[in-house]
Amino acid sequence: MKNIVDVWIKTRCIKDKIICKNKVFNVYIIKDCYAKVIGNKIIIDDNFLKYPKNIQFALLYHEEYHLYNWSNLLKFIWNVIKFKSIIKARWEEEYNADIYSSKKTSKKDVISFLKKAKKEYDKGNIKYNPKTHPLIEDRINRVLNN
Ligand SMILES: [Zn+2]
Repeated sequence: MKNIVDVWIKTRCIKDKIICKNKVFNVYIIKDCYAKVIGNKIIIDDNFLKYPKNIQFALLYHEEYHLYNWSNLLKFIWNVIKFKSIIKARWEEEYNADIYSSKKTSKKDVISFLKKAKKEYDKGNIKYNPKTHPLIEDRINRVLNN
């Protein structure tokens, strides 16, 4: 399965590097596919490159948190047990990714990124999925209170 995903990514996407200060993000750019992580790869869409730099970096660090690693996987499993809900555990991952990003960039940058995401939801460019993502207002509050 993992190999199929890899082949799909390599044939459909353009590999690129986005440099944020000294940090290099390896990304795969694809049309009409909002930012996400598949396995250990960050996928972004071509519109992403039109965003202001601070929003790009806040988003990349957010996605970096989702890159596959054991410690986050264990945290997720722990949260499923704690909340007795996969949805709440997923929400917790989103909050953690926002907080991680705010430590790497700034609260202000992450809030700009979240407000941009809200605009995209409102315009219908990105479909909001409450099963995977908490409300933007709640995400902003979590960032502010951390
Ligand atoms: Zn996320």
